[in-house]
Amino acid sequence: MPATLSLEGLAAILSIPLGLAVGSFLNVCIWRIPRDESLAFPGSHCPQCNGPISWYDNIPLVSFVWLTGRCRRCRAPIHWRYPLVEGLTAGLYLMTVLHFGITIRTAFLLLFLSVLVAITFIDLDHQIIPHILSLPIIPIGLVGSLLTYDPPPRDAVTGALIGAGLVYLVAVYAEVAFQRESMGGGDVNLLAMIGAFLGWRLMLFAFFSAVASGAVLSLGLIAARVLSRKDRIPFGPFLALGAIVALFVGDAAIDWYMSLVR
Ligand SMILES: [Zn+2]
Repeated sequence: MPATLSLEGLAAILSIPLGLAVGSFLNVCIWRIPRDESLAFPGSHCPQCNGPISWYDNIPLVSFVWLTGRCRRCRAPIHWRYPLVEGLTAGLYLMTVLHFGITIRTAFLLLFLSVLVAITFIDLDHQIIPHILSLPIIPIGLVGSLLTYDPPPRDAVTGALIGAGLVYLVAVYAEVAFQRESMGGGDVNLLAMIGAFLGWRLMLFAFFSAVASGAVLSLGLIAARVLSRKDRIPFGPFLALGAIVALFVGDAAIDWYMSLVR
């Protein structure tokens, strides 16, 4: 190891195994929280043969490759989502440490991003955003802004309130205009959480990115006859993706846009 390795470099290297381990735990949350199962008991087991998974078969990414994606006992395939969630979380952790350095803000953002990953995959599977993953996280975001002033506490509180109000208004409007449910209470909590962590400017950026990408993808899938107009597409994953884009490039994008209109 070179003697010149900086503390930042070391943190970036360590963020990868940390992200893999947290991603492995998020896989447990994604499977168990919507099924009202305990996160601690029983230990990891194969959903096919119910056999316990030993620690050496439960190492994120490594075990999946080593076992060639199959259970050691019954050879049932392990869902590709497990390594995907682990790799995705590790990638987000690395980006956050590289972008925000070793700061208190980074610690809060790692929690925020982990929750977004869990919400995304639960919403895709069950079309719900559990309250336990959104409501208690909102005050944590506000505490983070008090400690770091990034975003300033006033922007974080406004962000949470406008975020909740915005989804609520869109949901009421859609129900009156199209006689159908478009967004649910889970989306209200989720955008409030995004506002608490990112402030109102980046929250709006995340919301409009989500609406745009959601509309383009939905119309594309309907045109390709993969989906029909009656299918319900969860909005949570688009909000989560919008929040991640807003976090890393939102400020630069807003500044660039403002320089054009000025
Ligand atoms: Zn098995």
